[in-house]
Amino acid sequence: MIQKCPHCQADVIFSRDICPACGHPSQDGERGEATYLGEAKTDGRPVYNLGIETTMTARQRHGRILVGLICGAIPAPLVAHTAVYLVWFRVSVWVLLATFVSTWVVFHLWYGRKWARWVVAIGTLTAGCAGLYQAVLRRGTGMNAVEIMAYVVFALVYLWCSWQLLRCQDVKEFLGYQRNHTPEV
Ligand SMILES: [Zn+2]
Repeated sequence: MIQKCPHCQADVIFSRDICPACGHPSQDGERGEATYLGEAKTDGRPVYNLGIETTMTARQRHGRILVGLICGAIPAPLVAHTAVYLVWFRVSVWVLLATFVSTWVVFHLWYGRKWARWVVAIGTLTAGCAGLYQAVLRRGTGMNAVEIMAYVVFALVYLWCSWQLLRCQDVKEFLGYQRNHTPEV
């Protein structure tokens, strides 16, 4: 069992009541609970993710990675579209608006809002299917290979996002954690 040494604050496995890190003897009752923070705690620097690292389960941490990917993937094609248009000195108001709206929804998704999860899951499912449908529909016509690729790739990415949000238990657990740790605004 890993415990915290009361003398050097290291997380160690005690062997016959002696700390293997510093050699200081201590009884079971004197030792603290391990925090698995390694060296970070001892050099006086603040640990910003302290709460997350010590209270999240492995599944919630995995869910955090997935939700992070989803939050990045959703506005990505819209941001790319806006950037390309800006290079051409053009602005598409609708794409700009969609970029802001999707970023705003994704922000709420990250903090575990239930409505945001449904909006994003259904939105990405619809957009993914529409993208694939467009790619199939315009296969023979004026679309170039890059456009078809963009449609297919982003559609598949969106469908992946939708699938993770609807089906993945780790995502649900992370969003539940976020919901419980975010003050209502
Ligand atoms: Zn020690």
